[in-house]
Amino acid sequence: MMLSETEIKRAAVLIKESPYTVAFTGAGISVESGIPPFRGGDGLWNKFDPSFLEIDYFYQQPLKSWELIRKIFYQYLGKARPNKAHDVLARMEARKLIHALITQNIDNLHQQAGNQDVIEFHGTTGRLICTACHQTINDTAQITKLIENLPPACPECGGLLKPDFVFFSEMIPESARERSFTAAQKATVFMIIGTSGDVFPAAMLPPRSKQTGATIIEINTAPTSYTDATTDIFLEGKASVVMEAIEKALE
Ligand code: NAD
Ligand code: ZN
Repeated sequence: MMLSETEIKRAAVLIKESPYTVAFTGAGISVESGIPPFRGGDGLWNKFDPSFLEIDYFYQQPLKSWELIRKIFYQYLGKARPNKAHDVLARMEARKLIHALITQNIDNLHQQAGNQDVIEFHGTTGRLICTACHQTINDTAQITKLIENLPPACPECGGLLKPDFVFFSEMIPESARERSFTAAQKATVFMIIGTSGDVFPAAMLPPRSKQTGATIIEINTAPTSYTDATTDIFLEGKASVVMEAIEKALE
């Protein structure tokens, strides 16, 4: 299916007139930054056994867990930079065209692109948290220094530091969950960008938003489980291409 100019215009008009617009992003928005999705052919889980990201394994084997975390999330994926889709969302926030940005990604790229208020549903690699005294560290240079010696130790109390993202079998941070569902329910337009909708509870946000009256705009390179069931306007294409077209149509 070709990206239709009429549908882009329709989406832009809805966004312009919407008093409260939410953008909800997943791994797909970062693919063009060189970060592969975790599942599927090229996916990370075909190369690594994801058990090192189980929360119990982390506490039992912090050194082993950290060795893979550093390699994958800080050395390999740490080099990724925001792409045009992230940039458009940062400008839309500044122009008050989106009122909340919820991401499932842990890659910190929305924050790097300049979004001031990112609701981090699954946390971020951009912050470490002490498992003993709970202080957080978000200075990139300091993080790089701290993870030279694994497992990294808290500069305050010597406790074990953990990346402040959500491990498997770990709870969603209460404030992010609360803020996300509140925003979804308040939304008049809800944009789904690059997410398959397979990861729960995040996947419940678009249907919740639809139930409470939002128009759902979906951007993806291929249809998802949302497309027939939840989406009102499906814009098929790469996130960067579609987001730039929307921005242009907003002028
Ligand atoms: P997913 O891998 O399940 O789905 C990705 C979706 O993006 C697919 O529907 C795919 O068709 C689409 N897509 C691929 N390339 C695209 C492009 N260029 N433009 C637009 N769409 C594109 O991802 P998910 O739904 O976010 O679930 C994966 C979970 O794993 C997330 O909850 C997240 O926490 C984590 N994850 C994070 C990252 C990251 O931080 N960048 C990367 C992979 C996975
Ligand atoms: Zn500490």
